[in-house]
Amino acid sequence: MKITIMGPPGGGKGTQADILKERFAIPHISTGAIIRSEIREETPLGVAAKRYIDEGQLVPDDTIIQMVKTRLLEDDCKQGYILDGFPRTLAQAEAMESMGIALDYALDIEVPDNKLVERLGGRRECKECAASYHVVYNPPKVSGVCDKCGGELIQRADDVKETILERLSVYHAQTEPLKTFYKNAGLLVVVHGQEEIADTTREVMKALGVSE
Ligand code: AMP
Repeated sequence: MKITIMGPPGGGKGTQADILKERFAIPHISTGAIIRSEIREETPLGVAAKRYIDEGQLVPDDTIIQMVKTRLLEDDCKQGYILDGFPRTLAQAEAMESMGIALDYALDIEVPDNKLVERLGGRRECKECAASYHVVYNPPKVSGVCDKCGGELIQRADDVKETILERLSVYHAQTEPLKTFYKNAGLLVVVHGQEEIADTTREVMKALGVSE
């Protein structure tokens, strides 16, 4: 199974990708998470990408495409994968086609902008394992501490108000047009993501034709 999850920032792509990863036993590949890890390790890619991510802009296509190409060559991708946050531009989608990748589904999670702002503003991420929480909707058992690994929970630099608004505008301008691209390719499935996580998962499983 090869899926891309395409919704807006804060739409729940990572959360649903984690659930699908368990269900299908295939890797969850988040381009955002790979970039953040490169930034933490201060690799050349990380150093070059930092200013884009901090400003809510997209990292240039060539960099991202090369990064994904390399990741998809790893052994764990043989049975399929869930791409989270890639492709995000038409150029990336076309590059994926020219790599010969045939997706099974392009899953779009739709959430209204006002809900996204609220979600992203309250989001917290584990510094160690990148698990995601929300101060109101999905709080950890102990405030500021990751349930999974005990790591410290922090607010991502790009989850501050001004950057959130920039990311949403970039999403509408550059990523949303991909819906038409995948609709025309007969791969688009759309679910609602504004309610509880479990409600979205139910819709996702139904859309993918699998029992929970
Ligand atoms: P995410 O964790 O998916 O919200 O991504 C965080 C940030 O990483 C984005 O705002 C972009 O700066 C960058 N990023 C992640 N995926 C891509 C992509 N496919 N193309 C360009 N930039 C990306």
